[in-house]
Amino acid sequence: MSDIAIIGSGFLGLTLSLRLIERGENVTVFESAPEIGGLASAWQIGDVTWDKHYHVTLLSDSFTRKIVDEIGLADEYQWVETKTGFYTDGKLVSMSNTAEFLKFPPLDLVSKLRLGATIFYAARVKDWKALEKISVEDWLTKLSGRKTFEKMWKPLLMAKLGEAYKETSAAFIWSTIQRMYAARNSGLKKEMFGYVRGGYARVLKRFEEVLREKGVDIRLNSPVESITSDDSGKLVISTRSQIANRKSQIFDKVIFTGPSNVAAKITPALTQEEKQKLQNIRYQGIVCASVLMKESLSNFYVTNITDETPFTGIIEMSALVDRSEFGGRALVYLPKYVAPDDELFDRSDAEIEETFLTALETMYPHFDRKAVEAFKISRVRQVFPLPVLDYSAHLPSINTSIEGLYIVNSAHIVNGTLNVNETVQLAENFLRNFSS
Ligand SMILES: Cc1cc2nc3c(=O)[nH]c(=O)nc-3n(C[C@H](O)[C@H](O)[C@H](O)COP(=O)(O)OP(=O)(O)OC[C@H]3O[C@@H](n4cnc5c(N)ncnc54)[C@H](O)[C@@H]3O)c2cc1C
Repeated sequence: MSDIAIIGSGFLGLTLSLRLIERGENVTVFESAPEIGGLASAWQIGDVTWDKHYHVTLLSDSFTRKIVDEIGLADEYQWVETKTGFYTDGKLVSMSNTAEFLKFPPLDLVSKLRLGATIFYAARVKDWKALEKISVEDWLTKLSGRKTFEKMWKPLLMAKLGEAYKETSAAFIWSTIQRMYAARNSGLKKEMFGYVRGGYARVLKRFEEVLREKGVDIRLNSPVESITSDDSGKLVISTRSQIANRKSQIFDKVIFTGPSNVAAKITPALTQEEKQKLQNIRYQGIVCASVLMKESLSNFYVTNITDETPFTGIIEMSALVDRSEFGGRALVYLPKYVAPDDELFDRSDAEIEETFLTALETMYPHFDRKAVEAFKISRVRQVFPLPVLDYSAHLPSINTSIEGLYIVNSAHIVNGTLNVNETVQLAENFLRNFSS
């Protein structure tokens, strides 16, 4: 039996903990936050507890669904057919099926056909590595034409990547289309999205109970500030309070699941080359508002925006989730993806709320800010690594030069978008080659 420390209690750390305790190891989880779950954690907005960031499960998310099944919540999934909207040229239109796509106003028929053919083609491409060598702009322009790129693709890319879309490879849009296709291709040809009743708060509460029952030692409020080796080759972990008390703890193996640059900072004995590779991973951040309001904005779960607005999409959770979960009200997320050093991170909550609500008033004539009951903002500077050109060739190795130390995180999702399914799959794949 080995003593294993897992740093980070997002879905990656939680899955690793579950599997390793099942193998009979001694598992300790260190989490800097006061609760488990990382990006998938929940919080309170008004009197409602729901995900801090909008989350949905697809029918095709077999890894997520298996974990949820294992912790006993599979029967709690609700599956709903959702609709997608587009806000473009000051108008909100539905784009949930082929007929609506063919009527879509901003593009002429030829552009629409080229756009449709691009998506159809991208869904069938298998060699994603070749796409890492082409910029997303060049690839989409070649397939869809310049006009469609400027009108449709560019605003959608900017929504997630900002100006960094210029440095991003075609693998990014390929993996996004693959996931979108998987959602529609799970037998029903409809966009069926799912959630667990009670949201991720419930999933995580149950996950934590299961792990603790099995004997995992979960330490919250425990940011790890250094990982070193002792004379016998064991790994020494120190959290802030342990450093203050001159205490630390010794493990046979340590698996770090947080952002790459944090790993470089807290592990002084990594080689210069390893540190450089870890620091070279560039992240995209998010400022994401949760808005609890009396009336819904629309019946679209996702509204893509191609006009200039202060947020980069609208996700109406209450178009998916039964409104009884929210006391009969609507829950809307307004995300803005930005670079980690964007000035938006320094703006006050009041300033952001004012800007976002003013935009909603312009976009939705029926929207009245008096109907807003709660407005809460999440700020995360490192959400997902930017898939720049030749991304996987420069990826830091999961095995490090320090015996027993592994650094694995969302940077190692090389041919998929960031989602819980990919995260759980990453953990399962890692464990196949991990012997303790
Ligand atoms: C806006 C948004 C929308 C999303 N929508 C969806 C969706 O619809 N469907 C879906 O499946 N997925 C979605 N995701 C993605 C999903 O949340 C992630 O795939 C998943 O949560 C990543 O888990 P992780 O463990 O890799 O990372 P994280 O959740 O980031 O966990 C890392 C953990 O490590 C901890 N940590 C870091 N450094 C230290 C340290 N030094 N010491 C101790 N602890 C440390 C952090 O506090 C954190 O808890 C969304 C994410 C966001 C942000």
